Amino acid sequence: MKGKLIKRLEKLLGEENITTRPEDLLCYSFDATREEFIPDVVVFPSTPEEVVKIMELAWEEEVPVIPRGAGSGFTGGSLPVKGGMVVSTEKMNRILEIDERNLTALVEPGVVTGELQQTVEALGLFYPPDPASLTFSTLGGNVAENAGGPRAVKYGVTRDYVLGIEAVLPGGEKITTGRKVVKDVVGYDLTRLLVGSEGTLAFFTRILWRLLPYPPATGTLLALFSSREQAGEAVAAIIHSRVLPTAIEFVDRGALDAVKKYAGVEMGNQAQALLLIEVDGEEELVPRLLEKVAEVCQQTGGTTRVAKDQAEAQELWLARRAISPAIAQIAPTKINEDIVVPRSELPRALARIEALEEKYGLPIICFGHAGDGNIHVNIMTDKKDPEKWAKAQKAVREVFAITLELGGTLSGEHGVGITKAPYLSMELSPRVMELLKGIKRAFDPKNLLNPGKMGLD
Ligand SMILES: Cc1cc2nc3c(=O)[nH]c(=O)nc-3n(C[C@H](O)[C@H](O)[C@H](O)COP(=O)(O)OP(=O)(O)OC[C@H]3O[C@@H](n4cnc5c(N)ncnc54)[C@H](O)[C@@H]3O)c2cc1C
Repeated sequence: MKGKLIKRLEKLLGEENITTRPEDLLCYSFDATREEFIPDVVVFPSTPEEVVKIMELAWEEEVPVIPRGAGSGFTGGSLPVKGGMVVSTEKMNRILEIDERNLTALVEPGVVTGELQQTVEALGLFYPPDPASLTFSTLGGNVAENAGGPRAVKYGVTRDYVLGIEAVLPGGEKITTGRKVVKDVVGYDLTRLLVGSEGTLAFFTRILWRLLPYPPATGTLLALFSSREQAGEAVAAIIHSRVLPTAIEFVDRGALDAVKKYAGVEMGNQAQALLLIEVDGEEELVPRLLEKVAEVCQQTGGTTRVAKDQAEAQELWLARRAISPAIAQIAPTKINEDIVVPRSELPRALARIEALEEKYGLPIICFGHAGDGNIHVNIMTDKKDPEKWAKAQKAVREVFAITLELGGTLSGEHGVGITKAPYLSMELSPRVMELLKGIKRAFDPKNLLNPGKMGLD
């Protein structure tokens, strides 16, 4: 069967666009979770029509199809857990149109996030979502995971910029949702349903984006604190003070040490935690916003410093983006959760998570998009050490329990994939799960598109 499938794929797409070489299959077998599942074949379509052919063939042969962008996901979304075809979007990487009159962009799914950002910025336009992975993650992957980033505090997440999607359904039918309009209330909002669908409902072949004018000026401020909790209190106070920064990023001592070692950047002197805050707006407004934010941070016990110029601001943001790979060097295994709590609950969440370090005897490093209440909780462990691994599993469950108790959610941006599926019932009721499974069946009755994900099987 496998041989026949490969032959048919070769005929449809040309030999150069498929591979079964073991060394290639290995490259498409993992993502940022470091879990590993070897696909049967990897396919590289260049056009929506080729995706249609692939989906038709998969339907006939009943073979799983796994859409894949850059493979930078943190929950195993692009992994072929049931074998089948990994369909990479790396040859679908063109920006097709930037419409400066309507402030929209039309792109193929394999375009790298940062490339769209830079291209529109050169025209004075702004694509705000900025996951820390923006130099390598793809827009298709961002849509499938509804990626967030530091700027979500003021500008929202990927979903807030998707106007429409062209997608191929299991079976090979192509549909289009949304259009180049600002308002659209005709029928259920399928565009918003597809965003965050983790490759389980449809294969995106084109994405239509909403753009904004580029903000005239920005300013960056560092606030240093003597505890994680105090930094959390400052975040809650900033939000309460009615100032809306572009970004409020939290970094704890463990992350500061890691980034110093990895990237050679000292961000926080002796501080136990810091906030990296950005504001934007008209030139004359920015200093006033910085002043107000500094005042609130000082009132909650912080010391503050404004970045003297763009170069310093950029260095700080680069260091912020290096945290995730920096932490990965600390222990053999990093369990990276991305919980969200109401922002007023941040101080309690951070204090209770800190207490788990001692309880389980494992380092727990926290950083992330505190302005959204979204904290990356990194439990440092070793998968090969059964005792440490068992402790880490217990710690994860307790982190989730604390989060839900405080009115939060298990994931703010990384999605469910395979790693969070075992915990879904902590948050979603059986009836809600049934509704989600019903939606999956309506799109994919044979369960061929990215099976084994999101607890839907
Ligand atoms: C260092 C680092 C920092 C990160 N920082 C952030 C961050 O700040 N914010 C954040 O949100 N995430 C972050 N991530 C996670 C990750 O980069 C995002 O989830 C990103 O959106 C994944 O994009 P990708 O192209 O790598 O997708 P992949 O990992 O390849 O796939 C992710 C999911 O998208 C699906 N998919 C991909 N393309 C398509 C398509 N064309 N049609 C349908 N489904 C598709 C896949 O099946 C899979 O389910 C980070 C990751 C790393 C390694």
